[in-house]
Formats: sequence, C-alpha cells, structure tokens
Amino acid sequence: MDGKLADFLTESTLELGAARVAPGDGHWRFGLDEDGIGWLVLDRKDASVNTISDAVLRELDTHLQTIEAELPRALVVRSGKAQGFAMGADIDALADMDGAAARRLLTEAHGVFDRLEGLSCPTVAVVHGPALGAGFELALACDYRIAIDGATFGLPEVRLGLHPGLGGTVRLPELIEPISAMQMMLTGSAAHTKKARKLGIADLVVEERHLRAAIAGILRGEVDKRGRGLMARAFALSSARALAATRMRREAQKVAPQDHYPAPHALIDIWAQHGDDRKAMRQAEIASFAGLLQTDTSRNLIRAFFLRRKLKQAAVDAGDIRDVHVVGAGVMGAEIAAWIAMQGMRVTVSDPDDEALGAMIRQAMKICKDTHKNALETRDTLDRLMPDPMGHGVARADLVIEVGPEKPELKAQIFADLGARMKKGAILASNTSSLRLSDFLEHVPAKARFAGLHFFNPVSKIPLVEVVSHDKTGKETRARLLAFCTAIGRLPVAVADAPGYLVNRALMPYLLEALLLMDEGIEKERIDRAALNFGMPMGPVTLADQVGLDICLDVAESLTKSLNTPIAEIPAMLREKVAAGHLGRKSGQGFYDWTDGTPKPETSNSIGDELTDRLVLPMLNACAECVRTSVVGSNDEADAAMIFATGFAPFRGGPLRYARNRGHDEVHQRLLELEKAHGPRFKPDAYWRNDKTT
Ligand code: NAD
Repeated sequence: MDGKLADFLTESTLELGAARVAPGDGHWRFGLDEDGIGWLVLDRKDASVNTISDAVLRELDTHLQTIEAELPRALVVRSGKAQGFAMGADIDALADMDGAAARRLLTEAHGVFDRLEGLSCPTVAVVHGPALGAGFELALACDYRIAIDGATFGLPEVRLGLHPGLGGTVRLPELIEPISAMQMMLTGSAAHTKKARKLGIADLVVEERHLRAAIAGILRGEVDKRGRGLMARAFALSSARALAATRMRREAQKVAPQDHYPAPHALIDIWAQHGDDRKAMRQAEIASFAGLLQTDTSRNLIRAFFLRRKLKQAAVDAGDIRDVHVVGAGVMGAEIAAWIAMQGMRVTVSDPDDEALGAMIRQAMKICKDTHKNALETRDTLDRLMPDPMGHGVARADLVIEVGPEKPELKAQIFADLGARMKKGAILASNTSSLRLSDFLEHVPAKARFAGLHFFNPVSKIPLVEVVSHDKTGKETRARLLAFCTAIGRLPVAVADAPGYLVNRALMPYLLEALLLMDEGIEKERIDRAALNFGMPMGPVTLADQVGLDICLDVAESLTKSLNTPIAEIPAMLREKVAAGHLGRKSGQGFYDWTDGTPKPETSNSIGDELTDRLVLPMLNACAECVRTSVVGSNDEADAAMIFATGFAPFRGGPLRYARNRGHDEVHQRLLELEKAHGPRFKPDAYWRNDKTT
C-alpha cells in the first residue's frame, strides 16, 4: 500500500472513530472532520476490493438520508481499499437476474445515486486506482472528481455485453464531450489520470498529501463547473445526434456486428433517441440494460468473465517461484523470458546464439513499449532480464523453462545437461508443442518435477498457458506451476500429456479443414469470412499464415502420427507452400501476400452454414474428445482455454457451450452427415451421445 494513502486511511479512520455515525460493521464508514467536512468511505467488508452491490447501495442510501438531515460543509466520497476506488457492479448478483428484477434493482440504484447528486452541499469523489463501471458511475454522481495520481476511470460494461446502467449513459455525455463519452462506453476503454483530466472527467489531479488543500480549494470556489456541458449542447439537436450515430453505427458494426454484440448498438440507439432528455434517457438506459442482460451474448460474456476468474483461482496461493532460467531465446523463449521479467521475477536466459540473446533484449523493449510501460518500468524489466550464455542461472533457478528447438534429440540432451546443474526442488518445464513429455522421462533430473508449460505466440497477447502433466508429474509440481502462471498474469489450464494437448488438438482440424476447402477450390477470402462471421477473431487461412505454415505442417504431421483417429488429411497445398519457402507472414508470402501488411478478408455476408459447419464442428468434436478422455478436466476449462488461447467467439461461450446451446443431438447429426460426405475425420465423438454434464 502506498505509504501516504495508508497514513490517510488510518488518519481518517481515527477521525471516524471520533465521529457520530457509522454502523460499525457495514460496507461504509462515515464521519465529520474538524472542518465540518463529511467523509464517506466505501470499504466492503469481507472483500479485498470494492464492488457495488445491492447491499452497498442500500447502506449508502441510509447514510445519505442521515447526511441530508444534517448537511456537512461538503461530502467527500472515497474508498478505504488500497487497491482502488471501486471495480464495478457485483457481477455475481447480476448473472442470474431476470429482466423484472434487474429493472427493479436499477431503478432503486438510480434513486440512491440521484439522492447523492441532489445533496445541497458540494460532493467530491476522491479516486485512487481504478474507478470502473458502477464505481465510476458513483463518482459521476458527485459534483467534483479529484484523481489521485494513478487513478483510472472506465465504463467496461460493453465487454460483458452490456452498457452502463447506473446513470453513466446520462452523466458522462453531460460531463465531457459527448462523442468522447460515447467512445469510452462503446469501446470500454479506460482513461488514465492524465487523459481523465484532459477529457474533463477529473477536475483536479493531486498527490495524496495535497488532497485536503484541493478540497479546500473546491470549497473556496476555485474549480469552476460552469464550462461543463458546453459540448453537450451541440448535440441537443436530434439531427446532430442522428448524424453522429450513423457514423458510430458504421464503426461499431465493423468491430462488433449487431447480431453478435447488440450492446453498443443499443447504446447508440438510446443516445440518438433520448440524448436531449435526461429523464427519458435514464428510463431507456434501465430498460435497455435489463433487456441486454437477458441476451445470450451477455450471458456468455459474463460466463467468460467467470471462467477467467476460475482459471486464476486454480492457484491456491501466490506460489514460491522467484528465479527463473529460460533455455533458448528464439521466437518463444525471448517472449517468455521478457514477459516473466516484466512481471517482476528475475530471469536468466541461455542460448548458444549470441544474436538471439541480443534480439531478446530488443524484443523485451518492444513488449514494454507495446504495453505502455514507462521508462522506469522498462529499465527495471531489463535489469531483471539477464542474458546468461553459460547458464550460470540454472543453479539458482526455482524453475527452468526449456524453449529450445523442436528436435527430440536436442531436447533430450538439454534435459540431461540441466539435470546435473539444477538445484534441489526446482522444476523443469518444457514449452514443446508437439513432443510427448513422457518420451523424455529417462533424460530428466526428477520425473515428479518435470512438466510442460505451453505458452502461445505472442506470449504478451495470448493469456492462456497449458500446464501439462504426464503420468509421473507430482501434484505439488502442478500446483506450483499453476500458481506461477497466475503470478505472471497468465491464465493456466491443467491438461494431460496427450498429442496437441487441448488447444492445438482442437485448432488443427479447423486450420486443416480450411486448407482442404481451398484444395477444393473455395476462395481463401470466403473461408476466412465464414469464420469471421461465426465470430472468430481471425480467419483460419490468415491464422495459418500468422502461425507459420512450417509450424502448422510440423504440428499437423505430429498430430496425425500420434492420434488414432484421423484429424484430417494434410492438404497438398500446405506441403507445396512450405517446400517453396512460402511460410506465411514471416516470409512475406504464404496463402496471402503479407508484403503490404495484414490482408483484408472479403466483406460478403452471404456465407452458407455448410462452410461454417465444416470449419467449426471439427473443433467442437476435438474439444468433446478432450473432455471425454480427461485431457482437460471439464467443459468449463475447455471452453475457457479455447476462448483465451484462440479467441473462440466469446459471445458464444466457448465451443462446448455453443454445442450445448445448439443441441448435442444436432451436432452429432451434422457430424454424421459431414462424415458421410467428406470422410472419417468428421466421425462424431462418443461424447455427444454420452455426455450428461451441463
Ligand atoms: P526457435 O527456433 O525460434 O528458437 C529456438 C532457440 O533455441 C534458438 O534461439 C536456438 O539458438 C536455441 N538453441 C538451440 N540449441 C540450443 C541449446 N542447446 N541450448 C539452448 N538453446 C538452444 O524456436 P521457437 O519457435 O521459439 O520454439 C521453441 C519451442 O517452443 C519449441 O519446442 C516449440 O515447439 C515451442 N513452441 C513454439 C511456438 C511458436 O509459435 N513458435 C508456440 C508454442 C510453443
């Protein structure tokens, strides 16, 4: 905790002790200071972060009634949590709510925020850390917002298939330039301190120690509110809003098609219709939010939110791994090492190629830049990332990650060499994509502490890591690796040492089917469009080019060799491209020409279901097989892994949720039809007939 903040909170707690109110064990504390200023501190009991629940709102209402009866000179609303102001609404409570209950709850909540807004003394929200969703909406109901340096404001509801529901759609466009307000709500993007000040969200930015002086300044009238809302007047005319809305709809349609993501479009509609009428806008906000909450999109996106949380919670504690050594600084090793160093751990890296070690440092600088690290954070990251050609770090490391070339003899040699040098109790993990861990057991130092850590490329953008156990991997090793992944901000899913684990096992049939369709003469743009229309973030042909056609061929060959069921024939075109050195993006030429940047898929919407089913059903079938054969522990984990590793249409809830919604019988039947038409690679897995799980 920031020292000054800690002081303040203790100080205010002391003040509160001398004050009159405060139901002792509630979510809020209230007290008056010696200047007659009321401090209302949100500090949710039994939780480390603040979220806005029904109980929090009810209690706030009770406090406000008392405050109304005896007004302080000003009311300051702030958080008692070191972590930040408030993270948003209590999503657990929202998840199962029906439309009528949601409308009732929102209407009551609006009443509470209106009461805060209507107080006849000045109200000031003091925000440190994140003020998101309903937390930001609480701050918006105050007259002023003071940002403590480092504060962040955002309305990310759109990521859950919703839009703000506690007055944000009304108050933000009143406070700042309406188009910027709409952009924030449509994209769910956050405004950090400086930007928040520039936009007019924060009236002042101060350090904690100047807070009292800042509040005194506000009370002396030094912060002028009169200029606010000037820009809103330009959009008081419905014709001006209609024009802007047309542009917004066009942009929204490109990134979030209305069929898949109704929320942004609903938000644009209510603003275009009611943007000049506060009362109507509020009613429309409530009705629209309650309606969106019932959509499959929102239910599935909320489920994805829960799945992410569940994967994070797979780690029972913070873990014990501090020092890491990475063997191999190629495409993956460099990314893995840089990412781990960025998360605060010490990393040494060995590679016989000095060039690779130099490139790793450049890659680390690039990742820091891409993830908006400042100069100090970048320097600290580089301090922790140590090229170590002789591998001295191996002896000190709690975890050694092998990321050498995908060649069995070389890996066996690397493992044997490490075995002699690793410290007692350290874990050895391999990032291999296609080799079986169990084939290396005779070469590793300690079987129980040997496992897989399968990262995806690029590590900084794909949050999933498969934590792979072979038969002899110890439970403790798995638990330590799950905790390690969580500690470095990645999402772990435990999988078994089966060919392709889960993600490549499921993704490969999809990629290969796309290439087989091309072999049949269907244009690649059309194939990619089918997948995009389904909701995948990228078409399969583009994805194959991105991954590298040589890597696709390697993984496909190794999968076909090791699986009993045929996953697909390997398309002739793939072999031809690789033989010609056309490896995809990295060589400038693959199925697409990459010399002018990322290719654009065609925009046609008229793609038949047959094409989509041929691409998507093999992926579903593979996930089903992985659950049935316990490669992955549950439907939920399979769905989460596919969403967070491949971007599988999150609004569909993942492959197995999609299959369940479509009906297992129908999926089974379609696979039978495809098997008849195209061969045994479509043979339905036994899962569809047996699965009784939900
Ligand atoms: P790469 O060829 O880019 O890198 C391998 C690195 O290992 C090179 O820098 C090479 O100099 C170094 N090396 C060679 N011999 C070594 C030795 N004896 N000791 C230490 N380093 C040595 O390969 P990559 O694409 O980074 O793949 C590495 C591993 O990661 C493979 O097992 C691969 O299956 C896996 N993987 C790759 C991807 C991907 O998309 N590239 C994704 C997931 C997993």
